[in-house]
Amino acid sequence: MTAAQQMPFSKIRHDWTRQQVLELFAMPFNDLLFTAQQVHRTHFDANRVQVSTLCSIKTGACPEDCAYCPQSARYDTGLEREKLMKVEKVLEEARAAKASGATRFCMGAAWRSPKKKDMPYVTQMVREVKALGLETCMTLGMLNDDQAAELADAGLDYYNHNLDTSAEYYGEIITTRTYQDRLETLDRVRQAGMKVCAGGIIGMGEGEKDRAGLLMQLANLPEHPESVPINMLVKVAGTPLEQEEDLDPFEFIRCIAVARIMMPKSHVRLSAGREAMSDEMQSLAFLAGANSIFYGEKLLTTGNPEANKDMQLFGRLGIQPEEYQQYADEAEVEADLTSRIAEQENAPYFYDAAK
Ligand code: SF4
Repeated sequence: MTAAQQMPFSKIRHDWTRQQVLELFAMPFNDLLFTAQQVHRTHFDANRVQVSTLCSIKTGACPEDCAYCPQSARYDTGLEREKLMKVEKVLEEARAAKASGATRFCMGAAWRSPKKKDMPYVTQMVREVKALGLETCMTLGMLNDDQAAELADAGLDYYNHNLDTSAEYYGEIITTRTYQDRLETLDRVRQAGMKVCAGGIIGMGEGEKDRAGLLMQLANLPEHPESVPINMLVKVAGTPLEQEEDLDPFEFIRCIAVARIMMPKSHVRLSAGREAMSDEMQSLAFLAGANSIFYGEKLLTTGNPEANKDMQLFGRLGIQPEEYQQYADEAEVEADLTSRIAEQENAPYFYDAAK
């Protein structure tokens, strides 16, 4: 038995070594999925998936050079640029998202970082979207301390800022901001009291040791991100990664399973790239511990399977969308989860498709 197989998997740890992570990746596929599923069931209702909708509030013309991104002004991808969306239009999108079952509304702007003049608009968006009864998330690039505090004051629940890949491979993908810049923004978000959404992209030509390095960085943060998006590269024509070779889908599933094992209480999210995945591959991802998806017609600027197709898949798999609950404190969260997990343990093993 390897060192990885002897680890107490449900423990929250922040001291992973790359060797240990690589040992998880090297487990036989069935053993890895079984372990991930055990960890998943210890902390979550295995038949619930959180649903978020993503809205691009400012599209294209980004000064950064992220090699995968059609929104970078440096690549000719034919993307239509759009200025910062009016608050009323954002609210229209948020109402539609809520009506189609989303519980979290994520707003993304293609900026290196927000400017001072943008802050009143984005904070107003947060306040008004929250007033609709949705959780809010934003991704606006790098933040300074004041901006993080302003967003937290407005009531922003989550801030997304991805590490993208390992510290070692990062320079192959982005040169206009450093890995350290990203870690600092994540720290500011945490210090301001918001929840962290941070993950990466798989299939950008990195090796398994880089995928292990990315997950190690995320899991060894002082607190695990509450939300961990694992994206599959979408090869957009005109970007430097358009000719990248396809990744073995099982390697993607392994990545989900390893993320689940290393960050047992985080929501692991299937994000960009889901459109190219078959229903069977998405199902394997849920089995590996993914329990959050982006849903809606567009994922920023790349396609996303239509919302009702997602709901049909949920129906075929007996998955329910996770409801948005407002809890008084952590103890209430734990109590709710414990009762759901107990229900799950008492439930019959086989899903009754006739119900
Ligand atoms: S990923 Fe974000 S920061 Fe990078 S080019 Fe795209 S929009 Fe800009």
